[in-house]
Amino acid sequence: MAAVPHPGGEEVSRSGAQRYAAEWTRAVRRLGFVPLSAAETERLLLLHTVRLAQALLAEPFSARPAEEVGRTLIDEHLTEPPVLDWSVRALGEDFLAQVLPARAHRDEAVHRVAALQGGLAAGFARALRDRTFAQQERIARSAWQARDEVEQALRDSEARFRAVFTGAATGIGIAGIDGRIIEVNQAFAEMLGYSVEEMRQINVASLFHPDDAAGMWELYQELLEGKHDSARVEKRYYRKDGSVVWTDLAVSLIRHDDGRPRFTVAMIEDITERYELQQRLRFQALHDPLTGLPNRTLFFETLGQVFEVSDAERRVGVCFLDLDGFKAINDSLGHDLGDRLLIVIARRLAECVAGRGHLVARMGGDEFVILVDDGEGIDDAVAVAEAALAAVSAPVRIDDQQLAVSASIGIVDCPVGATSASELMKAADTTLYWAKAEGRGRWAVYDPERGARDIARSALVAGLPAALDRGEFVLHYQPIVSLLEGSMLAVEALVRWQHPELGLIGPDRFIGLAEETGLIVRLGEWVLRQACRDAEAWRREFPDARLVVSVNLAARQADHPGIVETVADALASSGLPADLLQLELTESAVMGSAGEPLRSLHRLAALGVRLAIDDFGTGYSNLAYLRRLPIHCLKLAGPFVEGIRGDGPDATVDHRDERIVDALVRLAHALELWVTAEAVETGMQAERLRALRCDTGQGRFFGPPAPAAEITARLGGGGVAA
Ligand code: C2E
Ligand code: MG
Ligand code: MG
Repeated sequence: MAAVPHPGGEEVSRSGAQRYAAEWTRAVRRLGFVPLSAAETERLLLLHTVRLAQALLAEPFSARPAEEVGRTLIDEHLTEPPVLDWSVRALGEDFLAQVLPARAHRDEAVHRVAALQGGLAAGFARALRDRTFAQQERIARSAWQARDEVEQALRDSEARFRAVFTGAATGIGIAGIDGRIIEVNQAFAEMLGYSVEEMRQINVASLFHPDDAAGMWELYQELLEGKHDSARVEKRYYRKDGSVVWTDLAVSLIRHDDGRPRFTVAMIEDITERYELQQRLRFQALHDPLTGLPNRTLFFETLGQVFEVSDAERRVGVCFLDLDGFKAINDSLGHDLGDRLLIVIARRLAECVAGRGHLVARMGGDEFVILVDDGEGIDDAVAVAEAALAAVSAPVRIDDQQLAVSASIGIVDCPVGATSASELMKAADTTLYWAKAEGRGRWAVYDPERGARDIARSALVAGLPAALDRGEFVLHYQPIVSLLEGSMLAVEALVRWQHPELGLIGPDRFIGLAEETGLIVRLGEWVLRQACRDAEAWRREFPDARLVVSVNLAARQADHPGIVETVADALASSGLPADLLQLELTESAVMGSAGEPLRSLHRLAALGVRLAIDDFGTGYSNLAYLRRLPIHCLKLAGPFVEGIRGDGPDATVDHRDERIVDALVRLAHALELWVTAEAVETGMQAERLRALRCDTGQGRFFGPPAPAAEITARLGGGGVAA
């Protein structure tokens, strides 16, 4: 056997596929007549297995290959319904784990498998039906021929017609244009539970089922009127005992020589078993096994239908619901209890919206969605969301556990013409995120402007890693100047993104994103190393300046296990002495994520680098606490400094801010800390801060952040402040 092709990379397990195909072969041979040898069957089923695996990995995904596999099973004469039943079930139960272990539990893969199950069943059923029709047509042709000959009074062919008619396993019936049954064979009568005699007393019209698809009766009428020569439909009949039989019905019109309709020949086959299997499979493919709710596939199918309506004014609303903290419940109380909770929630949601006629579906995990089709507007959708939140938040009792659950809901509502199904769901997802961010247990309504901002933000995030690889980041340096002497003692490294389309972007637009995504660790390391190299270059050219470079460390970066080694290596590889590097951490970064001071703080200090608290005063630092930390400098946050501008026409000074700065400086000095004032914008501020004994200042007054070359020029010019 040649190697199993696996287009999606290494994920298709070859031995798994072979095992799966072998198992499939055994089942197929056990469950029905198979005209092929075991080896031949296994070879075919291995091809199918691989084909299904390829379909599962393909982008974009389509269930069509599964339909073809279903169809091929019929071509290969594997036509027994139990074969289909087994094949569909195994696809759902074992396929992922055996053949694509790497994907086994991924939601997306599970949804795809459900779609493949549906495709397989549909392909199988359709091929079986087509084959049945082909057989029927052969019978119909010979019956017609025979009947024609009867009509021409060729008595000898009567026997031939009778033989076909009586012996056929297919039900064959002949009715007059008035609908009266002229003749049926045994198979027809048995299918409907009558005797042949009884059947002859019946009018075709009485066999029509009230729930037959619309148009069926009309189709028959048109046939009688000679508008068509044949019709094929799936329809159900009542048996004599009142039970229902599903049939495949093919009716042909037989005409007089002059073309006038004469009578109809109907051929029916009992497809109840296949129909029910198909229904069951369809139900399985479209419902969530745990909660019984419609699943994601059915939801998107229904949503797609809503978007097909031609009325662009019609409104469509979606409430996208996610349980709050469900993972914690699952982790702490076990998955079994988690599952039971989901069942309760699903039932409540179904109950609270069922009366309003909205579709509730489980999208996967703890996500549910309610479709508010043809509502009156946002108020309708909000009312549904509120009812859903109320239903979820009633206490849940499972065994002895009383659980309090809440959920968050993202609501979108708009005219069908204003959007597409996928845009609508994307918006609902975004809005759900807002509801979570605003504190959970609440709903939020989509706001297109905010959505656009979010999109711009996420586009920026998506571009960050590549920008780092392409070297699109640059450092600017802002002087930190001695308030007493005016000399430049240090520079703060401030990162900028030289974006190819958006131009120079400031850190406020991307540092937060980089922190959220964790990319700050890489970006920060680049900043650190670049700053050390620049500082070392200045030291070599201007050794007497002893210029310190101050680098911001984000919380996530400071908390990263490799931070001490990274700093040590940046120093070693650039050659910069440790005491010329200062690291700025915010109060929250110093406290670390565990609520205790960062462990690496002492190890960083031990390297000999200086540590500064950035934006001091904006956090909750306990000053007494600082005494125990190896901190060297406090950078007073801008707002304090702003309060002592004093540059108005009457040089007013907010004395409260001045007193605070005074107290902070005294305290800092008592703790032997340097104080740097940030955002010094005027000479008057610089003057006041010097009077308050602040040590250094930084801000537009002393020079804005500028490219490294400007710092070099300034050092060359004597390093005197503005
Ligand atoms: P920060 O560390 O507090 O940096 C000082 C900010 O104040 C800088 O903004 C600077 O341009 C600005 N500034 C300078 N002079 C004045 C002034 O006279 N008045 C006022 N109001 N502001 C002034 P920038 O460069 O936009 O940086 C903003 C923040 O981004 C920084 O605040 C820092 O938290 C962060 N950041 C910048 N570069 C990095 C970096 O490499 N790594 C990390 N983790 N964060 C960085
Ligand atoms: Mg800073
Ligand atoms: Mg700052």
